[in-house]
Amino acid sequence: MKYQPQTKTPVDAKVRRSVPPVVCYPITTLPRPAMDIYAQARENLILQEEITIPPRDAKIFTVPAGHFFRITCPDGPQVGDLNLWCADNLDERFFSGKTRALHGTHVSTGDQLWSNLPHMRPMATLTHDTLDWYGWDEFGGSVHDVIGTRCDPYTNAVLGSEDYHYCCHSNLTRALAADRNISLVQAEPFVHDVLNVFMCTGFTQDTHQYFMKASPVRKGDYLEFFAEIDLLGALSTCPGGDCSSSHSSEAASCFALNVEIYKCESDHLTNWQSPPKSSYPGTHGLK
Ligand SMILES: [Zn+2]
Repeated sequence: MKYQPQTKTPVDAKVRRSVPPVVCYPITTLPRPAMDIYAQARENLILQEEITIPPRDAKIFTVPAGHFFRITCPDGPQVGDLNLWCADNLDERFFSGKTRALHGTHVSTGDQLWSNLPHMRPMATLTHDTLDWYGWDEFGGSVHDVIGTRCDPYTNAVLGSEDYHYCCHSNLTRALAADRNISLVQAEPFVHDVLNVFMCTGFTQDTHQYFMKASPVRKGDYLEFFAEIDLLGALSTCPGGDCSSSHSSEAASCFALNVEIYKCESDHLTNWQSPPKSSYPGTHGLK
């Protein structure tokens, strides 16, 4: 945050401040997903599996490359925290920060979820978003952010709150440990910054602090993804519920979320290929 300055304002402050910004990563050269292929493929989706995540919990799911999956809101307004890994290599995982740098603070249809370095490839493409009508509200808020990290008991401890064991970080850790048959200590480092599905967030206009407000998600809404690679996913139903007031406690009303996995007819995907890992050789200037 920016507190009361201790440094005298220089005489050319106005000139320095008036320099126009440039976008860090213009995406004019970024290969764009073939949305027409996905649009055709999603016309005939065949439901393969449906997983229900109870309130204040997380579950693991797998999605083969070339399949679709939807995170749906079957009951009441509820936010979900999503982790994604390459199914056969947990070291390759969703890179929230670079996804934000490329696609902005909140994602929607046409954006892609990128994996971490040195892999750096699209893991999934967003193919439908029933909350895309929301756009930006008067507070600068929007849905599905890649700003927040996930609620966790360590931040609670720093802030002096009582221990709470069903934060998204803990839910994701428990779910991954159980699925992989590894200890919590082994699983925890694989849990990473999330896509905040259905969460409505932004930055306050005065202090630029991260804010949340009641999610506009309603029963029947969904966010749909196309799996570009074989995926292992984990979704936590945030203890904040719709995140209108608090999280990291038992205070909020919480609901279940569903994950639906769909197959499409393979002839729709004849012109699609699973993306390779980054072409950068990793030499970093050394021969
Ligand atoms: Zn949470």
